[in-house]
Amino acid sequence: MKHRPKKRFGQNFLQDRHVVEGILTAADLDSRDRVLEIGPGLGALTERLLPQVSQLHVIEIDRDLAAGLQARTDQNLVVHPGDALALDWNHFLTEPPYKLIANLPYNISSQIVFKILDHRHLFSRLVLMFQKEVGERLCASPGGRDYGILSVLCQVWFDVRRVLRVPPGAFYPPPKVHSAVLCFDALEHPRIDVADEAFFRRVVKAAFAQRRKTLRNSLIGSGFGFEGLEESMLAAGIDPRRRAETLDLEEFGRLALLLSRHCS
Ligand code: SAM
Repeated sequence: MKHRPKKRFGQNFLQDRHVVEGILTAADLDSRDRVLEIGPGLGALTERLLPQVSQLHVIEIDRDLAAGLQARTDQNLVVHPGDALALDWNHFLTEPPYKLIANLPYNISSQIVFKILDHRHLFSRLVLMFQKEVGERLCASPGGRDYGILSVLCQVWFDVRRVLRVPPGAFYPPPKVHSAVLCFDALEHPRIDVADEAFFRRVVKAAFAQRRKTLRNSLIGSGFGFEGLEESMLAAGIDPRRRAETLDLEEFGRLALLLSRHCS
């Protein structure tokens, strides 16, 4: 099929078979595995996945490419034409756990990660391609400028590691940026206790909202100010003059607990 890559859908198709193999190795597939692939495109990964798994769901926004996949006769392939951000994954991923594999369009990668977090119970492992800088943020440890909202939220529930560096030449057309493949393993138990996930997410976002400011000021700026905030933070062992990027997961857990007592 002759297909002209569409920029608006972030279409940079994988053409380096070593990268394809690296993604499959990280996925560690088993013939019983059920897999979701987001953005199969011309099928560089799809072709290799189909013979190895029991069921493959693919979500493709490009109608032309989705139609090409729908014309296939593979018994284990289920094609969902549409936008991965808009479709209701719970509607068709009814037999978890799934592995999620995707060479993601870079313009929606953060939004996809937030959606994955909302559906994390569906997945045992994720193998995802990101722009290099986004990959670095997801793996980052406390203390550096890469550490942020996505690092904290992902690392509470997943073991995140980079498995491949990918140069622009691995794709057609080559993107302007370098890429990285990350593997996320769902943890049996989260690294910290999170009683209310939505509230925890609000606190992490508020802490990083003005990341150059002190934690105290960033929280106040996001509507978490209350009388005695500083004293409570000190009592919880968190110096209010610190910046969000210095807090580890345990400290974010304590901060969320402390704020929940004053905000409920
Ligand atoms: N997986 C293929 C590969 O590795 O060669 C294609 C990767 S390409 C970077 C991204 C793919 O995601 C394209 O096929 C594009 O049409 C599709 N896509 C873009 N936005 C999407 C969305 N919101 N939902 C589903 N698919 C999307």
